[in-house]
Amino acid sequence: MSDIIYQCKDCKQNFTFTEGEQAYYRDRGLAIPKRCVNCRLKRRNGKQSFNVSESPQIPKEDPKIPEKKKEEK
Ligand SMILES: [Zn+2]
Repeated sequence: MSDIIYQCKDCKQNFTFTEGEQAYYRDRGLAIPKRCVNCRLKRRNGKQSFNVSESPQIPKEDPKIPEKKKEEK
């Protein structure tokens, strides 16, 4: 077994599907990823409808409220 180069379905860039990843996916009976890691992460962050525990990076909404101070003279 050796590393396989795939082309990402989204960004069309080549990414390496390493031996370790192959074993990981095969072990769990997962389908071979069609996207690079970046695009997979993007998609995962994009929709959080399921498996919330799997995505530790929850985008925090910026609490900064734009201050609108009207200086009335
Ligand atoms: Zn990609």
